[in-house]
Amino acid sequence: MAHHKYERLFTPLDLGFTTIKNRVIMGSMHTGIEDLDNAHERLARFYAERAANDVGMIITGGHGPNEEGSIEGAKLTTDAEVAGHRIITDAVHSAAPDAKICLQILHPGPLGDSEKSVAPSAIKSPIKRFVPNELDEVGIEKQIEDHARCAVLAREAGYDGVEIIGSAGYLVSTFLVEKTNHRTDKWGGSFENRMRFAVEIVARTRAAVGSDFIIAFRVPAMDMLQGGLAFDEVVQLAQGVEAAGANIVSSHFTWHESPVPTIATMVPRAAFASVSGRIREKLSIPVVTSNRINMPDIAEDVLARGHADLVSMGRPMLADPELVAKAMEGREDEINTCIACNQACLDHLFTGRYATCLVNPRACNETELNYLPVTEKKKVAVVGAGPAGLAFSTVAAGRGHAVTLYEASDGIGGQFNLAKRIPGKEEFHETLRYYGRMLEVHGVDLKLNTTADPGSLADGGFDEIVIAAGITPRHPDIEGIDHKSVVGYIDVIMGRAHVGDTVAIIGAGGIGFDVAEHITHAGTSAALDIGIFAREWGIDFKHHPRGGVTGVEPAVETSGREVHLLQRKTTRVGAGLGKTTGWTHRITLARRGVQMVSGVEYLKIDDDGLHTMVNDEYRLFDVETIIVCAGQLPHRTLHDELAERDQASHLIGGAFEAVELDAKRAIDQASRLAAAI
Ligand code: FAD
Ligand code: NAP
Ligand code: SF4
Repeated sequence: MAHHKYERLFTPLDLGFTTIKNRVIMGSMHTGIEDLDNAHERLARFYAERAANDVGMIITGGHGPNEEGSIEGAKLTTDAEVAGHRIITDAVHSAAPDAKICLQILHPGPLGDSEKSVAPSAIKSPIKRFVPNELDEVGIEKQIEDHARCAVLAREAGYDGVEIIGSAGYLVSTFLVEKTNHRTDKWGGSFENRMRFAVEIVARTRAAVGSDFIIAFRVPAMDMLQGGLAFDEVVQLAQGVEAAGANIVSSHFTWHESPVPTIATMVPRAAFASVSGRIREKLSIPVVTSNRINMPDIAEDVLARGHADLVSMGRPMLADPELVAKAMEGREDEINTCIACNQACLDHLFTGRYATCLVNPRACNETELNYLPVTEKKKVAVVGAGPAGLAFSTVAAGRGHAVTLYEASDGIGGQFNLAKRIPGKEEFHETLRYYGRMLEVHGVDLKLNTTADPGSLADGGFDEIVIAAGITPRHPDIEGIDHKSVVGYIDVIMGRAHVGDTVAIIGAGGIGFDVAEHITHAGTSAALDIGIFAREWGIDFKHHPRGGVTGVEPAVETSGREVHLLQRKTTRVGAGLGKTTGWTHRITLARRGVQMVSGVEYLKIDDDGLHTMVNDEYRLFDVETIIVCAGQLPHRTLHDELAERDQASHLIGGAFEAVELDAKRAIDQASRLAAAI
């Protein structure tokens, strides 16, 4: 059988009244398209495409069970809303009759964005503006009933089950921990009282929906809170919901307010699965694990270790809707792997945009961006095999065009070859593996070590020429910039430049931060070693103190270099980094003693070091090495030279615009052009 490598992954799971056809769950993700006008149609396409590609069970994004417990459009509270949800469940079941889809019921509690929000006690979340309203006994009864009614509506809408979220700082979890539950009635005090709300919701839901409907419950397996849940409380809760009628227990790690990364790219793959494994030993129903499981071999390994019965993958399903089918067919080298960057998914949601994916711009755009077979085959030249050139070439050739890809260096990847060397960015290797393979699959004619020149391009008989030649680093106009102490980031990252013990970095954008990480890092990358990751972030997997973190001090390892990270802007250094990951970089570098200085005016560089004015006061950075990370300029010469020959060409990626360039924009722009050309 083609999928023998993933024997456990493709073993069906019998729940008694129904069977999940394999062990892959598409985890719950709010995408933001729930709030768009044609939400149901878009969601239907989004989920159906994954179902058609063999996902065992889909969990939708969270939906509120009532007005006080819903955020924007994602809710299921009335009969009228059932019809919209029918569009989704019908699409999924007609794409794959044996695929399951469950509605996630998410009552945000104090994480609701309005004055209506409710909680066990009137305690404001540190990440929200509103103080929630304290529920009285009647209010608690209503919340429980509304959960049960929501599940009944889900059943009417054609869902195969529900997942109730009991974690992350949402309503149910705020009953569980003392810091958000100060009640003295039967819903507060002892742990038995604090978990009563969760158990009661499951029991009432089971009574309302009958025995042949899936109920999954998500427990805060390790909530990453100081004073959070003890391991035996997690077990008590999981056993409580099992006894109340849950079919599946799913493990969740973190509350949204926790200062510990649990899904970012520097988190090792499957870092938290062992916690699920310890819970699984105490239960007789199946357990789901999640977090940083992005490839089928990792999923199979988690199952083989007995850490879970089912594996949940969320973002990997944005990155590649065909992940499961490709694993089944032995085409795992064609999987477009989620690199856990959060740039296009979570960072979008937190800045008011709907989610998509850096490596797959079609994610959540299934109704509008499609790579259809060409009607007129063209001969296309692409210059530069960085992310933009690779995305363009693979999509255009996949559609049927004849693509020749010129790359001046001896390998594909462009700047991703720098990114992959940064500790914590190892996943970029996967993107290069994916593109390398797809060039073969689609028959792109790759010409390495070949600098495209205007003459051969103009004379090559191409119907279209696409310039994806990237950027050149900016060489800022500072007196003494050619001093021997000054080096560029490319030479530093490639290990070609000597870096002394004292360093100033000019420029604190994404690359300045990455370079600071690179030169202050010591030993093995935490992303490759769960033990190092745990020490660095103060997590104790072995003893599982309350929340996994209570009383554990993060251990700092550093190369010992003294580093100053500088910018001219007067805003906080690192303010422009990604919403959901920037804080992890700022914390890491601060712990390593990196000095972040804003409001810097560069005066000159000489044997004494870097002379500056900082907020109008003179300051000398007496350093051995000065690394320039001052942004980039577009590589447009080729485009201009072609224009002089009256030869039109398209510009994409860094060659089009270097300001605010990132791989997300490069790949998105390239893919859209390739879809249209
Ligand atoms: P490039 O990647 O610069 O590729 C251009 C290619 O064209 C090169 O391979 C070059 O050799 C080739 N070329 C140039 N001229 C010619 C010619 N005449 N003939 C043939 N070939 C030619 N972005 C993110 O979104 N997230 C990140 O986390 C991230 N981290 C980064 C970390 C580092 C250390 C660096 C340096 C960059 C990072 N980036 C990140 C930025 C990202 O890599 C770039 O935005 C992206 O590579 C731009 O893609 P591109 O294809 O336009 O250009
Ligand atoms: P960048 O984010 O534009 O940062 C450039 C830095 O150089 C800024 O700190 C800027 O700050 C400074 N600068 C600009 N012009 C200067 C000049 N003339 N003299 C001195 N300093 C100057 O660019 P980048 O760091 O080179 O990164 C390139 C792109 O790659 C980014 O846009 C980023 O999105 C992407 N990237 C992303 C990540 C990520 O984790 N998401 C990581 C790496 C790279 P001042 O003007 O205030 O001095
Ligand atoms: Fe994964 Fe990044 Fe895509 Fe989000 S944007 S799904 S983290 S690759």
